[in-house]
Amino acid sequence: MSFCSCKDIKCPLNPANHDKGCDLCIQKCLKDNEIPSCFFNKINEKVENGDYTFMGFAKHIQRNMK
Ligand code: SF4
Repeated sequence: MSFCSCKDIKCPLNPANHDKGCDLCIQKCLKDNEIPSCFFNKINEKVENGDYTFMGFAKHIQRNMK
């Protein structure tokens, strides 16, 4: 997974730890109503309060796209 920008290598869902690509990460995000970290990182790798929710992503956009 050369394009995954997730820095959480300890996460068992990180593609570095299995051979299922993005499947496990996206499956978890869909279940928890979250956006994968690669989308946050594309804008800014500093994610306030570790909030990966849909609303957290909207705020992340507002903070960084001014
Ligand atoms: S969806 Fe998850 S596993 Fe796939 S690139 Fe993004 S952060 Fe990495």
